Amino acid sequence: MLNVPPQAFPAPSSQQRAAAGGRAKVPLKPGRSLMDWIRLTKSGKDMTGLKGRLIEVTEDELAKHNKKEDCWICIRGFVYNVTPYMEYHPGGEDELMKAAGTDGTDLFDQVHRWVNYESMLKECLVGRMAVKPIAAPKGMLPEKKVLSGASKDLTPSYDWFQTDSLITIVIYTKQKDMNAELVILDHEDKRLRGEIIVDDYSYLLEVDLDHAVEEDMAVNIAEKVGKVEIILKKKDNVHWKILGQPLESHNTFMKRTDRGLFYRKCKLVLKTEVTHDTKLFCLLLPESTHLRVPTGQHVYLKQIIAGTEVVKPYTPVLPFLPLDFKEPSCHDSAHIYLMIKIYSCGLFTQALDHLQIGDCISVSNPEGSFKKSQVQTSEDLFLLAAGTGFTPMVKLLNFALTEVSCLRTVKLIFFNRTEDDILWRNQLEQLALKDQRFEIQFILSQPKKDWVGKQGMISSSLLSEFVKRSRKDSKVLICICGPTPFTEQGVQYLKDLGYSQEEVHPFTA
Ligand code: FAD
Ligand code: NAP
Repeated sequence: MLNVPPQAFPAPSSQQRAAAGGRAKVPLKPGRSLMDWIRLTKSGKDMTGLKGRLIEVTEDELAKHNKKEDCWICIRGFVYNVTPYMEYHPGGEDELMKAAGTDGTDLFDQVHRWVNYESMLKECLVGRMAVKPIAAPKGMLPEKKVLSGASKDLTPSYDWFQTDSLITIVIYTKQKDMNAELVILDHEDKRLRGEIIVDDYSYLLEVDLDHAVEEDMAVNIAEKVGKVEIILKKKDNVHWKILGQPLESHNTFMKRTDRGLFYRKCKLVLKTEVTHDTKLFCLLLPESTHLRVPTGQHVYLKQIIAGTEVVKPYTPVLPFLPLDFKEPSCHDSAHIYLMIKIYSCGLFTQALDHLQIGDCISVSNPEGSFKKSQVQTSEDLFLLAAGTGFTPMVKLLNFALTEVSCLRTVKLIFFNRTEDDILWRNQLEQLALKDQRFEIQFILSQPKKDWVGKQGMISSSLLSEFVKRSRKDSKVLICICGPTPFTEQGVQYLKDLGYSQEEVHPFTA
């Protein structure tokens, strides 16, 4: 609801929407970008009308402020006067008005839970709700969720023991198919945070360790029995009386979506050009972090821009497209590779492009709804990508061609404006030569005169031409990613062509 949601990207009046026939071009008021908003909030203007005073807001009072010219919204127990933000909200005033005078927490969480509204709207803070809020404030101690019945039995537990030099923490996840992607560990100074993903839930171990440990650690996972061992090296050869002091969320098991995003600082170690406007960024995870971004998931990057925390999602790729799919490739787990288009007026990507090698940036835990099992039983896989919508397809291609034995065809239909915009064209063409199951189709919307390939925009006729089952009743999965209207139109065309909801996976935030 607030900030610049990628759902609204490209911005309605950006050049990216201006091209094609029949597509709406909604004029935005000039001077209403996120940067303009940040400037306004720093101008010293009284944004709440309360001259900096914070008040307790009753439900009755909140309900009175339900008009465009006087609009208050409650998010996680805090009330904001969003009236001055109305024109800056990229999702539009109507979207914001849906929560006018009410508790908008659920609506906010549905649309973009990850947006750092506390930072974006801090000058608009009116105060707290006088009554007990429905949801706990983000970042504060969430109510411990007491799970009932069967789900309670799924709650992981932990134990620990020590030798002279090592501390071993054992987490019993009670999950049979535990793997490295489901274990996220960080420790900094003496603070240890271990998150275990169990379906849509997360178990958290969070302690201030009794004594200091070395930066590096080992993680052993007994996949079949669901046991996770974290081995820490003691800095000093002392006997620990306790593992450490439990922190706020220690030993809690709750819905993943109820946890705030956790960030660690990663170092930029390499930046290379992919095309005229797109770069590959290589980030080094700290030695004290254990994190693997699963196929089809994204992370959030966070930077302070003009004094405001700004967060945007990006989908990690591989350093290159592996061409030999005989063996599952052994991925380098210390680095995260991001393929990012730098927009000339883009707030976040401009700041990103100004990072120097050696600079650090905050990277969140992974998120996303894609599950590998969706592709594991497919015979035909179609990947519809537009521009950087190619990024989730990179790991997906690698996974599909390496590990899914029942796949007969994998086809990437890649929409770009011009030949110069095609990401990793050579690699894709080489892959198509190397692996008979893989086929690539480039489609350009604004080709130069000498382009002899396919031209056009996503349409029902293009999709019916290129998306075809290899056999009458073969099991198909179609993944789609690009600008939101591209993805939405694609999903609709596929539905009209008779593909079921289970057969289509749109990538969104
Ligand atoms: P913005 O400041 O949002 O602007 C982008 C462009 O729009 C600029 O050209 C700007 O001029 C124009 N613009 C902005 N505001 C206005 C306005 N009000 N009026 C007119 N024009 C305007 N991107 C990648 O490159 N790689 C990825 O791997 C990737 N993964 C993603 C994963 C997910 C799940 C999602 C949802 C998005 C992903 N994105 C990815 C997009 C990314 O999150 C950002 O949206 C993108 O980098 C642009 O950010 P920005 O702040 O630089 O641009
Ligand atoms: P782009 O270069 O602007 O566009 C790529 C192709 O898509 C062009 O042919 C373009 O045609 C077409 N296109 C653009 N807007 C369209 C629309 N509204 N309807 C139909 N076709 C459209 O793309 P980009 O700048 O790389 O942007 C990539 C997008 O993918 C971003 O919005 C990003 O947020 C999103 N993305 C999402 C995820 C995710 O997981 N959700 C991951 C990565 C990227 P014309 O420009 O000629 O019209």
